[in-house]
Amino acid sequence: THFGFSTVTESQKRAMVASVFTSVADSYDKMNDLMSFGWHRIWKDHFVSTLNPGFAPLSAPSGPSSPQHILDIAGGTGDIAFRMLHHAHAVNANPNVKVTISDINRAMLSVGKSRSTSLPASQQAALSFVEANAEDLSKTRALTPILSQQEQTFFDPSTATGGIPDNSVDLYTVAFGIRNFSDIPAALREAYRVLKPGGVFACLEFSKADKHPLFNSVYKEWSFRAIPLIGQLVAGDRDSYQYLVESIERFPRQEEFRDMIKDAGFTVSGEGWEDLTGGVAAIHRGMKP
Ligand code: SAM
Repeated sequence: THFGFSTVTESQKRAMVASVFTSVADSYDKMNDLMSFGWHRIWKDHFVSTLNPGFAPLSAPSGPSSPQHILDIAGGTGDIAFRMLHHAHAVNANPNVKVTISDINRAMLSVGKSRSTSLPASQQAALSFVEANAEDLSKTRALTPILSQQEQTFFDPSTATGGIPDNSVDLYTVAFGIRNFSDIPAALREAYRVLKPGGVFACLEFSKADKHPLFNSVYKEWSFRAIPLIGQLVAGDRDSYQYLVESIERFPRQEEFRDMIKDAGFTVSGEGWEDLTGGVAAIHRGMKP
């Protein structure tokens, strides 16, 4: 079976996304390297170094060691959160940066939690794991361990014990997550709500690479043929990887997504985005005025 999209409802999409990420959690990191030839690491490094956490005064311009709260949404297995911590603590020598890594899927977060045990103790202490749906950050709970295979790994808001307050975050990041959300405008409104005035929304996501037709056709061949096949061979799961490829195809173009960010109230500078690798991925940024 293959996920047809035109007719799915929001709740069907939500269920699909839940099963996709539960089933890919264990192979996720290896698959990322295979599918992108390791490029995702370069994009992530670039994303983090241009945001320069721990240095640039984001909303509290009181010098290089000012405290910052970074919220990494759809943080999955921790790639962005760990890089943020390393950059802030080790590169910028600012131990006052805290990172909250949040995801709707406990299976992904649990992989992240166990990976985080190899970080320096001071970085582990600055990291917290939270289950939440990006579309409603008023309901969260701290990550709880998965005890049995049968357990529900998708966050159930009726079990929430907390929430992310208004105006509490300096930097909101979301990498390769937002295209999976059922209601992107709702997630953007929540980003706006939780950010402090002067705080930054930053998104790294697959985008459109159609400025160069030849490159684009090679890229399309790779994604539509090779990725589902690699998914089948390496992870034993063709459908999930087919879903991932289709979700990239359906995500709005750079301009359109930039306009959605502006519609949520953010101000953007220049065009509002930066293309990476010819637009295969793009970084969008907005500031809460
Ligand atoms: N940011 C990580 C990275 O760059 O490696 C993980 C990206 S992974 C492709 C996408 C993540 O989005 C998954 O962990 C999935 O559970 C999460 N996700 C999907 N829908 C979500 C939602 N509505 N709210 C929060 N997280 C969501």
